Parts: sequence; C-alpha cells; structure tokens
Amino acid sequence: VKVLWNDRIVNEDEVRIGFEDRGYQFGDGIYEVIKIYNGNLFTATEHINRLYASADKIQIVIPYTKDVLHKMLYDLIETNEVNVGHIYLQITRGISPRQHNLPNPPVEPVLTAYTKEAARPLDQQKNGVNACFDNDIRWLRCDIKSLNLLGNILSKEKASSNGYYEAILHRDELITEGSSSNVYGIKDGVLYTHPVSNLILNGITRNVILSCCEEIGLPVVESAFTTTQALEMDEFIMSSTTTEVMPVVSIDGQTIGNGKPGQWTKKIQQVFESKISSLVSL
Ligand code: PMP
Repeated sequence: VKVLWNDRIVNEDEVRIGFEDRGYQFGDGIYEVIKIYNGNLFTATEHINRLYASADKIQIVIPYTKDVLHKMLYDLIETNEVNVGHIYLQITRGISPRQHNLPNPPVEPVLTAYTKEAARPLDQQKNGVNACFDNDIRWLRCDIKSLNLLGNILSKEKASSNGYYEAILHRDELITEGSSSNVYGIKDGVLYTHPVSNLILNGITRNVILSCCEEIGLPVVESAFTTTQALEMDEFIMSSTTTEVMPVVSIDGQTIGNGKPGQWTKKIQQVFESKISSLVSL
C-alpha cells in the first residue's frame, strides 16, 4: 500500500520523518480520521474544513488549498483500492531546531496520510457497549483536533483495562464527551448533548446525528447534563467517525434503560445507514 507524504503518493518506506519534527517532539500538529464507505469518503468536506480550522487555531498554514488536499485523499484511496475503512491524516508544524517558540520564519508543515481497510463494528452497534465514567483531566482547548492526546489516552486505557469500551468524561459533575467520541442521552423523547464549546471536539458524526434527529422528529437540547442524570437516561449513545452511532447500555456497571439499544437509537442508526448507503463509489 502507498501513503501520502506531503503532496506525493509514495511507498511507506520512502517516507522520512525528521528527528526534530515538532509533531514528533511536541505533538505540535493536528489530524483527522475520515471514513471510507463504498470506496468513497464520507463527509470529507466537513473533515477538511475542521482540519483547516484546527490548523488556523494553532497558527499552522496548510500549504495546499482544500480542493487540492481533497483530490490527494481521493487519489490515495483509489491507489490503495480501499472499499470500507478510513484515512488517517496528520499535519505537523514541520521540522525546526527544538525550542518551544514557533519557528520564525515558519517552516514547511509535514503531511502524512495512510488508508486502512477496516470492518464496521456492527455487532457492537447492534448490542450496545459498556462504558465507565472518568474525570476529564484534559486541557481547555478540546475543540482543536490536536495530536496531543495523552489525557484521552489515559482515560481510554482506564476504560479498556477494566473491560469498558469507552470512558465518558466529566468536569466536576458535568459530562463533556467520550475519550474519543461525543455522547448523548435521550430522556422522555428529547436528546441531550454538550453544546459545542472549547470543552469538546465538534464531532462530524455529532453533526450527522443531529440532522438524523431532525429527520425523525427527535427534539435536540444542546446542554450539558450530569453523571447522575446520565444514569437516569432512557437511552445513551456515543459517536465517532469509526464507531458511528454506538449505543451505550451500561455505565460503571449500571444499566441504562432496559440494557438494550433503545427505539430512538435504532431510528437514528437507520437514518445514519441511509446516509452512508447513498454514497456512490468514485
Ligand atoms: N471527541 C473526541 C475527543 C474524539 O477524539 C472524537 C473522534 N476523533 C470525537 C469526539 C468524534 O469526532 P468525529 O465524529 O468527528 O469523529
């Protein structure tokens, strides 16, 4: 398989990563994961827009237009003939002698991207997954899709080493999002989720889910809820590019609703599925 290195599609072993790449030394960079269905990219424009927005927030100037980048990603999935899977793409600030200050004048950012063929987690989507709570110890710019993921990693490890699929993060009592997902509770026919702010990543899947809610007539309230309220929800969902619409059926061992994916969740999944299947191959 081939990979994208800056503006070239090359064999993986041709790629050389600089010793003093700021992504490598500081996590000074940003990334995206874009899902591939039917050999085509899902919500690519939204992901590319968020990538440029993240870059802007940390003063990285991406040296390609959005259209050129979009085309390079298409070329990569065509070259690798990926049918279902994803593209991982990252951009670091570039290579410069190690110092905290931004290089002045700026250096050329370093882009790397690769594809992965990967099956969808259909069993988990059908049966639901278990989650736990964890303190949200991350920084206050969670809106940036930064390569710095130590807080997320520590929470995910705490979850998975205890047999949980995801850690649901909270600041004081208020739930923000999952360690690598957005989260939602449904109570008495209303879907609640944390509003878009510096405390969460504005998930692309989150936006797709909110439009699914509109289509099925499920009212949405974008306001934070507490861990206690979470346990009293009728239904609970987490979402991300790779997990899609994932029912959460227990948190910290306490059953949510009747312990099975709920009716609203299933409806959202159906509408989500129709959006995926309307994607035609390249
Ligand atoms: N929040 C965090 C912290 C994440 O890492 C992710 C997945 N990258 C999400 C939310 C979901 O975002 P998206 O739907 O765009 O994948």
